[in-house]
Amino acid sequence: MSTDIQDIYCRLLARNYTAELFADARLDGYKRSGRGLLADCPFCGKPEHLYCSLDKPVYHCFVCEAGGDWLDFLQKQRGLTFREALQHLAQAAGVRLEGFDEAAYRQKARTRDILEVAQRFVSTQLGAATVA
Ligand SMILES: [Zn+2]
Repeated sequence: MSTDIQDIYCRLLARNYTAELFADARLDGYKRSGRGLLADCPFCGKPEHLYCSLDKPVYHCFVCEAGGDWLDFLQKQRGLTFREALQHLAQAAGVRLEGFDEAAYRQKARTRDILEVAQRFVSTQLGAATVA
């Protein structure tokens, strides 16, 4: 059976890895905002515009539009290869990597998650009722 990234993400979300990811990345000025964390964007430098959900393994910058999942974040922010980023997350989750299907992973659109996190953020900022 091959390792599933969703399994890794579920384990990491269960132990609030979002904060750990931000701390590891040494992002400045990070703080809680609704159901997520805000930090200074490491890609464009804009203060408090990088949003990371506490419920989903995704990030998004509202200025430079940088966004993706945690694998993407580790690759862009730390300059890791896809494999290194995957290994990093698997290790943090306590999961052994076995026959990970990178092609299948890439095929699954990240767009849905990014749109969701953006929508959730906007709802929070507008003080709307919690998005289910
Ligand atoms: Zn940015």
